[in-house]
Amino acid sequence: MIHFFNASYSPTPDASVVQEVATEQCRAWYYLHSWLTVDWDDVFNDYRSDINNIHLKISRNRQFLNAKYDELSPLIAKLKATGNIFSVCQVCQFESALENSLHKQSDLELIRKSCRVCEHQGWIFRISCPDCQQLVDIAEPCEGKCINCQRDFDFVTVLELVGPDTSTEDYSINPTLVYCSECSTTSEPTVIPLNGNQYLCLVCLDFTDKVTECEYCNETVTGELYDTFLTGCSICDGYGFDD
Ligand SMILES: [Zn+2]
Ligand SMILES: [Zn+2]
Ligand SMILES: [Zn+2]
Ligand SMILES: [Zn+2]
Repeated sequence: MIHFFNASYSPTPDASVVQEVATEQCRAWYYLHSWLTVDWDDVFNDYRSDINNIHLKISRNRQFLNAKYDELSPLIAKLKATGNIFSVCQVCQFESALENSLHKQSDLELIRKSCRVCEHQGWIFRISCPDCQQLVDIAEPCEGKCINCQRDFDFVTVLELVGPDTSTEDYSINPTLVYCSECSTTSEPTVIPLNGNQYLCLVCLDFTDKVTECEYCNETVTGELYDTFLTGCSICDGYGFDD
């Protein structure tokens, strides 16, 4: 726990200062909560009830952002009227995230969201729920929930929906799954080919048109890599150098 002092925080703090602190706390907790409950779940599993308590307390602080949302509402309405799309922010839960579509194909759309309330910027991709056709936002690390039928989505279900079709005869010559060099998930390939020679990692949402076939292990990884026979790739160490 870090304590710090700022003269403007007491004794009756300014509304804008409270908003600023609530905004930062909201964003910071969003990432920390995901680390504690997903990435480091093995380590922090015994503390789950404490983590849930903190989660509840921080969620209540969202009230301090109500005023900010109200203040911004006329601007958001104006931007919507000129064709901009706003949707619910995954961090502060207000309908204040401006969408910027970066890639669209029949089964998937990749979108960058910039929230006007909590200032969180992040990527999501949107797919259609196979049970009810509601559009579902999938965020890092490949998690989402259908707001209509409550179906949960994870890497396995998403890969089945938007991954390459392995049932076709020409599967072996079509682009297939690739390993990610960004999040270095080495246990399995997490990157799917998209239309137009682009690739998307379903776990870290890295989006690229560069892939390299490793000259040492023959696997394909994202990124532009050189001398892979000697230095390897994100999943192998290569041949190495003689001393
Ligand atoms: Zn937000
Ligand atoms: Zn659904
Ligand atoms: Zn990745
Ligand atoms: Zn390799």
